[in-house]
Amino acid sequence: MSILAPAARVRRLTADEALTLYGRPLFDLAGAAHEAREALTDPNVVTYLIDRNINYSNVCNVGCAFCGFYRTRRQDDSYTLSFEAISAKVRELEAVGGTRILMQGGVNPYLHFSWYLELLQHLHDQHPSIRVEAFSPEEIKGMAKLTGMRTDEVLRALQAAGLDGLPGGGGEMLVDDVRHARHVSPARISADDWIRIMAEAQALGLYTTATMVIGFGETPAQRVQSLLRVREQQDRALAEHGNGFSAFISWTLQTKGVRIEGRAPGAGAFEYLQNVAAARLILDNVVNHQASWPTMGYKGAQTALFAGCNDFGSTMLEENVVSQAGARNRATPERELVRQIVDAGFAPRQRDSLYQIVRVPDVEAMLAPEAPSAAGAQQADAEAAADGASSDPPAAGAPAA
Ligand code: SF4
Repeated sequence: MSILAPAARVRRLTADEALTLYGRPLFDLAGAAHEAREALTDPNVVTYLIDRNINYSNVCNVGCAFCGFYRTRRQDDSYTLSFEAISAKVRELEAVGGTRILMQGGVNPYLHFSWYLELLQHLHDQHPSIRVEAFSPEEIKGMAKLTGMRTDEVLRALQAAGLDGLPGGGGEMLVDDVRHARHVSPARISADDWIRIMAEAQALGLYTTATMVIGFGETPAQRVQSLLRVREQQDRALAEHGNGFSAFISWTLQTKGVRIEGRAPGAGAFEYLQNVAAARLILDNVVNHQASWPTMGYKGAQTALFAGCNDFGSTMLEENVVSQAGARNRATPERELVRQIVDAGFAPRQRDSLYQIVRVPDVEAMLAPEAPSAAGAQQADAEAAADGASSDPPAAGAPAA
């Protein structure tokens, strides 16, 4: 029996079977993954989140070759945001109905641990309705090194100060031969440590996600190996306390303008969709799979909705967009995400980071054409430009400590 046949998919794929997925015709693979998604989540619905990324500091001492975000402290454009600057960004998110911030930075050895605790306390006091999901295992490891505490102690202290979750930054490829390769990041947190810190966060009840990046030059077997690390940890977490990864998100390595350019092949739409679909079939214990519009463009992300994904990710509001937030339905990326989901034939639903539906958007009102006006024409021009831009992957170097 083919492992893509519906009857075969009720049982778990072995590592050998998982590897064969990467040799299957793409449309067969995507079709099987789509059926698996339909069996686990509402077939008609695609969810999205209104959130904001805040990068509190770009100072980092890890030096990943694929990262265009980090700076040393001596560089002119290094920064660490003040609490008030972070708060101002959160207020803009609140104004457009957002529910969480995703806050990451570099591994900054010059920030005292008390700075993080005070920041979380500040956010908790000033913005009680916003969930704060912040830091990555790499940053937690950095804080542990700085303080001499164990990573679980660091997590416990951060949680007591207001941390709600640990995003999956730095998952990339959970195979040390790949992540520690000279052309990638020899100083990167190991796969074992990444999994261990995620497991500690899950045991504390924190929200977590698993991420994966392809395109470092890894083999299909290494992709499977990485996915199986996630599946194994999810099994353990669900068996021990029921709090595992809330979602799986994969994307392709962005190489333009960073040191890894020319030294890693990256990956295109075909490999992205192949990996998305294979992940849906291999990770039978992770319910939510997210499409990645920031890296694959809206077209790639829409296609991923037919290869196993049930979620369109988040708005990741940017300052220049949020500043126009007075006209919510026109000026925020929410409208665009809703449009993409509707155009793909699904019903959009705003969710929170725990994948609970918090709002059914008024699609008709949101997508209704506006009466033409001088301001409206300018807006349309800006949106058309944004549409064009969004079809291409953004520049490399999104921070992913
Ligand atoms: S990816 Fe993260 S850990 Fe690596 S250099 Fe960039 S900010 Fe630092």
